[in-house]
Amino acid sequence: MLENLLAQIQQYNPNSDLSLIIKAYNFAERAHEGQIRKSGEKYFIHPFEVAKILAQLDMDDATIIAGLLHDVIEDTRHGYEQIKKEFGEEVASLVEGVTKLGRLSYETKEERQAESLRKMFLAMAKDIRVIIIKLADRLHNMRTLKYMDEEKKKEKAKETLEIYAPIAHRLGISKIKWELEDLALRYLDPEGYYDLVEKVAKKRQEREEYINEVIKQLKESLASLNLEYEISGRSKHFYSIYRKMVYQHKSFEEIFDLTAIRVIVETVKDCYAVLGVVHTMWKPIPGRFKDYIAMPKP
Ligand code: MN
Repeated sequence: MLENLLAQIQQYNPNSDLSLIIKAYNFAERAHEGQIRKSGEKYFIHPFEVAKILAQLDMDDATIIAGLLHDVIEDTRHGYEQIKKEFGEEVASLVEGVTKLGRLSYETKEERQAESLRKMFLAMAKDIRVIIIKLADRLHNMRTLKYMDEEKKKEKAKETLEIYAPIAHRLGISKIKWELEDLALRYLDPEGYYDLVEKVAKKRQEREEYINEVIKQLKESLASLNLEYEISGRSKHFYSIYRKMVYQHKSFEEIFDLTAIRVIVETVKDCYAVLGVVHTMWKPIPGRFKDYIAMPKP
């Protein structure tokens, strides 16, 4: 388990101090000894998975270590001082920051949500890594939400949609945002979610073939422009299809952008050059084309 994580960290950070990460791994495992999650797994699996998510985001050593230790102050007999002694002040204050975000005791849900948002933004200003650890923590908790009781599931899912996903979006961590939204949807509207999963799956192969063909054609045409670009296809995630269907009152068949193609270039001028090529190959649908190059979304 640990070796995979270390190998991954070394790939993006050759200067990483692996011995300190190993120390944190052993420390956290011992600290949570005997604790069990609702899933029946050893508690330590949770902070370890959080550290893995952080490594997938190419985070620095202090953040990975704080990820491994993030529940130590809250759930074990060890406190800030001991973490500071073993791992230094930077790690200790990250763990403390994450712990503070978790401590909310307000009467109403609204109060609690407003307060937790306020705390998030404050922590963000102090050290953004605290928020990134908190996002990884929430992501793993959402991945394992099925072991919670019904009421807790709905509550966590709602909070995830209202607080955590928008923050991930604001930070530009779209992979986490999408996964959080899809997981939240699964618990807030299970019927809607599984219905969508089935519809999307039915068309998936067809769509993938189509998109590969479009990419091939577009690449041939772009060759003449002689510019640097990256091209990729992407599928819309479930929650964003769902939101469109609910808020714009559309049926699944009316969602046109289940898949998209993304061409990334160096300059705005190149953007328009690519767009020009696209429009000579495929006519825009009147009234549906929007120029987000000139008028970007916030
Ligand atoms: Mn946690």
